[in-house]
Amino acid sequence: MDRRTLLKTAAALAGLGRFAAAATGLRVVVAGAGIVGASIAWHLARAGASVTVIDKQGPATHASRGTFAWINATWAKQPRHYHRLNQDGLSQWKTLQQGLEIPVRWGGSLEWFDRAERQASLAGQIAEQVAWGEPARMLDADEFSALEPGVKLLGAESAAYSPNDGAVDPVLATRILLSSARSSGARIQHPCELRGIRTDGHRLVAVETSTGTLPADRLVVATGAEPRIPELTAGIAIPQRSTPGIIAVTRPLPRLIHRIIVAPGIHLHQRDDGRVVMGEQDGAPQTEAHAARLQGRPNDFPSPVIARQHGHRMLEIARRYVPEIEGAEIEQAVIGWRPLPIDGHPVLGTNPQRPHVYLAIMHSGVSLAPAVGQLVAQELTGDVSLDALAPYRPTRSFRQVRRY
Ligand SMILES: Cc1cc2nc3c(=O)[nH]c(=O)nc-3n(C[C@H](O)[C@H](O)[C@H](O)COP(=O)(O)OP(=O)(O)OC[C@H]3O[C@@H](n4cnc5c(N)ncnc54)[C@H](O)[C@@H]3O)c2cc1C
Repeated sequence: MDRRTLLKTAAALAGLGRFAAAATGLRVVVAGAGIVGASIAWHLARAGASVTVIDKQGPATHASRGTFAWINATWAKQPRHYHRLNQDGLSQWKTLQQGLEIPVRWGGSLEWFDRAERQASLAGQIAEQVAWGEPARMLDADEFSALEPGVKLLGAESAAYSPNDGAVDPVLATRILLSSARSSGARIQHPCELRGIRTDGHRLVAVETSTGTLPADRLVVATGAEPRIPELTAGIAIPQRSTPGIIAVTRPLPRLIHRIIVAPGIHLHQRDDGRVVMGEQDGAPQTEAHAARLQGRPNDFPSPVIARQHGHRMLEIARRYVPEIEGAEIEQAVIGWRPLPIDGHPVLGTNPQRPHVYLAIMHSGVSLAPAVGQLVAQELTGDVSLDALAPYRPTRSFRQVRRY
């Protein structure tokens, strides 16, 4: 690492290590090595906690692999407090990017709808974004083409431009976070399944796993869409509406798109390595055959042939907007299950009856991971309750809101 990078890294990380004294000696098991668990573990390890990360399969094998990985604080992030948390996520990604050299591709997003009334409300939502401090604006077709000459603005005459947004390779980011946590002393164990906890009154004694017992003072449950673990460990059931989505990735292509494209029917971005990532907006077709196949919540298709078929189906949609994507080869197509508390907001905190078990379950976990990691580590090591997380406690009453 050269001197300039070293200084930048030191500056970026100085603020993050400020809870070190309080945390020293605190034994924390983080269950779940997705991007959320990895970020929490990294912040905890940096703060001096003795951290063990366990995962029943391996790092970034579930939602943090099957995700579109758009880092955003756009109109869907409602209300204001949740929008602010996502804005915090964006700015903390910049710190992480510098500190850990995680490649994030910035440049903003372009989004539009093909229904006139939805498009009209989008303009209203963008006005609200501006009031909330975002440099967002609506672009006409000429401005759109100037930014994205290879993309057709089909079905609308304008698009919302959110210049602050970015995208990341979530698997790589998770691995970098874990590897840096390991450099700060964390242990990473997989396959190792969380099975239960052992307590002595209000005190946590140990975490029980498929490979043995781990002595611990705190357990962080970052097990994503897994439905049973919160009740088993924290004694509190989190109502989730986990929905599946397909993510397909092409082999590297010459640069076709520069920004995140959120078009009717498909989401697209192109990584620095040339791979185009495609996410489907509408989810799986509602057929009996699909329902049967999805029952066991698979993360992979039954065969590589079927995976490629889905990838090609998505390429057909993408080709309407990006003609030059025709002929691209599908490298990977996977299924992701959204960890999705039914009100669309994160679950962050403890059940007062089991204060040693901290739940961290959320959608938009890619956008939020850096901010959430820091705040959760701060609560755990400083034994404080932060106002920024007050709306997301697991003891709230959950009301169904369909945002995703
Ligand atoms: C199709 C799709 C598109 C998305 N698009 C975006 C987007 O554009 N932007 C965005 O910000 N977010 C997006 N999300 C949401 C985001 O991907 C998730 O919020 C985030 O990945 C959650 O990370 P996580 O670490 O909490 O969960 P996961 O990545 O699911 O990690 C949980 C881990 O827990 C492990 N685990 C489960 N049970 C146990 C157990 N008993 N013991 C040990 N380990 C266990 C699993 O093996 C897994 O590795 C999307 C999600 C999907 C599915």
